[in-house]
Amino acid sequence: MLKPLRQAGDTMLQWSFLLGLTASRPGVRDRPLEERIDALLPQTQCGQCDYPGCLPYARAIASGEAEINQCPPGGERTIRRIARLLGRKPVPLNPAHDDGKASTTVVRIDEEQCIGCALCLKACPVDAIVGAPRLMHTVIRDECTGCDLCIEPCPVDCIHVETTGEPAAPVSPLAAPIREVLAEAERLRRADRARLRFRRRNERITRREQEREQRRREKKAARTVLRKEALPEPGSDHASKQAVIQAAVARVRARRARRDGTVYDGSGRSDPRNGT
Ligand code: SF4
Ligand code: SF4
Ligand code: SF4
Repeated sequence: MLKPLRQAGDTMLQWSFLLGLTASRPGVRDRPLEERIDALLPQTQCGQCDYPGCLPYARAIASGEAEINQCPPGGERTIRRIARLLGRKPVPLNPAHDDGKASTTVVRIDEEQCIGCALCLKACPVDAIVGAPRLMHTVIRDECTGCDLCIEPCPVDCIHVETTGEPAAPVSPLAAPIREVLAEAERLRRADRARLRFRRRNERITRREQEREQRRREKKAARTVLRKEALPEPGSDHASKQAVIQAAVARVRARRARRDGTVYDGSGRSDPRNGT
C-alpha cells in the first residue's frame, strides 16, 4: 500500500519539477505557438521528422501540416508534452520516422584519417565541427547533437559514432526523480545551445546568400552600363564626338581633293575619273 503511494508522490514531484523547468523559462508562455512547440523539441536538428530542423517542424505542427509524432529523438516524452500544450491526446511515435536509435550519441573524427575536405563542416547544422580546407577537422563534443548528418558526406569514413552514456548504475527510488530532474536540466541546456547555434548558422547562410545576390546584381548593372557606353544613343556625348571627328576627316579629305584637282564626293573616296 505504502509503496504505490510513494511512487505516485515521486512521479508528481518529478513532473512538477520538469513542468516548472520548461514552463517557467523566460517568456515561453508569451511566445507564438511555433516557438512554444520548438521549446519542447530536442534541437537535435537531424531532419528525421522530414523537416530541415526543429523550428521548421514546429511551424508545420503549429499550422496543422504535420502530426506531433514525427520526432524520434524527442520520443514519447516530447509527444506527451506537445499534446499537453495543444490540448490533444498523445499518439505513438510514427514508425516511419523511428530510426531505432535508443541512446544519445555524439561523433568523433579520426584525425589521422581526415583529409580536410570540409564536407562534414558544411553538413553540420549546429557548427559543431571546426577545421579549415585541407587541414584536419575535429568535433566540439559538447556542441554535437548526435544528428549524424556529417557521417554520410565523409569520403573516407573517418567519423565515428560514440554513445554519450547516461549512468547505467541503478539508483534508489528516492534518488531517481532527482536524477531525472538533473538530466532534464542538462537536456534543456544543450537544447538551448543547439537552437542558438542552428539559428546563427542559418542567419549566416542567409546573409551570405544575400551578399552573393547583391554582388551578382551589381555586376549585372555594371555590365549593362558598359554595354550602353559601347553603343551610344543618338544625341549622346559619344555620338556628338564621333560626328565632330567625321566632319573633321571630311574637311581634310575635301581639302586634299581640291589640292590634287580631284573631286571629293563626301564618301571618303576620291573620284575615279581622276585616276586617284
Ligand atoms: S530533433 Fe530531429 S526529428 Fe526532432 S524535430 Fe528536431 S529535426 Fe525533427
Ligand atoms: S558533428 Fe556531426 S553529428 Fe554532431 S551535430 Fe554536427 S553533423 Fe551532427
Ligand atoms: S568529411 Fe571526413 S575527411 Fe572530410 S573534413 Fe570531415 S572528417 Fe575530414
